[in-house]
Amino acid sequence: MKITAPHLGNVYLAAKALFDGLEIDYIMPPLSNKEALEIGSLYSPEEMCLPFKIMIGNYIQAIEKGADTVIITGSCGPCRFGEYCELQINLLKKLKYNLDFIVIDAPRDIGIKELYNRINKLSSQSSKSKYQKLKVLTDAKKVINLIDEIESEAHYLAGYEKVNGQCKRILNSCKKEALKCNSPKEMINLLEGYKDSLSSIEIDKDKNPIKIAIIGEIYTVIEPFSNLYIEDKLMDYGVTTSRKLTPSWWVKDMILVPTKLNSLDIKKGAKEYLNLGIGGHARECIGEAVLAYEEGFDGAIQIFPMGCMPEIVSKAILPTISKDKDFPIMSLVVDEMTGEAGLVTRIEAFVDLLERRRRYALSWS
Ligand code: SF4
Repeated sequence: MKITAPHLGNVYLAAKALFDGLEIDYIMPPLSNKEALEIGSLYSPEEMCLPFKIMIGNYIQAIEKGADTVIITGSCGPCRFGEYCELQINLLKKLKYNLDFIVIDAPRDIGIKELYNRINKLSSQSSKSKYQKLKVLTDAKKVINLIDEIESEAHYLAGYEKVNGQCKRILNSCKKEALKCNSPKEMINLLEGYKDSLSSIEIDKDKNPIKIAIIGEIYTVIEPFSNLYIEDKLMDYGVTTSRKLTPSWWVKDMILVPTKLNSLDIKKGAKEYLNLGIGGHARECIGEAVLAYEEGFDGAIQIFPMGCMPEIVSKAILPTISKDKDFPIMSLVVDEMTGEAGLVTRIEAFVDLLERRRRYALSWS
């Protein structure tokens, strides 16, 4: 069995730590790229959302390297993601790829026994003891927490750094070096080292950078290729950004869902405007917009794929929040046709608007 998994932000590092630790054959698809998108767009239904297409591209690029089993998380939620695995299995079958899928779904949807069977299918490939497997799983969780912390710190500090581009360089080098590690322990040590070096960079506390919250559909905010590396661009402009949706947030949220204690702050923020889950992460998007305002951000950028049903609902609600709170929010819709130049122009215009609002507010104080 040669396992692969689609890309989702930094998950590939945790997956590498997990499979290295379990000593299971793992084929990592090349980081999401133009070719993967072209392959996915060619074979997917045209009206299907962008994450589906990039994932198909990831699978086919991994199959070309020898993968025969895909592991993905499932969802019975009321958006297309609930149908992803069925559709992807059928599509790949039609293309004559003989692939096995292991879908990790929530126990409330498939039952504890079935979830155990599916996990067992994977873990039976490893000759490690139960204790060792548990340790590897804990290490993989540590990896995702660490890399998400480092990334979020780098995005935040980019607005305060004394040496331009230092945070971005550290972050990029961290990810590159982490890929060269051969064991979870080695990766954790490396990430801890990078975390320390990031916290010791020289910052200018007198700077007051523009602060933007990144909100929207979970895949497109997390997977940098799908949003045309918006956070990297904002780092280049010396803008501080913050994004609450990360793979480590998702893991924590999923664990807490049965207790209903998940993301209480976000739910509280969304209460006035969207007080129920309507699929995807629409409620989170609304809650995050309100929290960004309350936390003193200058504005928020919503990103979502063309045709994303839950985010279309959020997009319709965001102008009300923006008006009620005098808080600028820009929506960016991405698909396989999105051009970088147009996107950059819109981001620059938004940053410019936020700067002018600052100057205007200062001139009246
Ligand atoms: S949340 Fe939107 S983009 Fe994501 S699977 Fe659902 S419809 Fe598609």
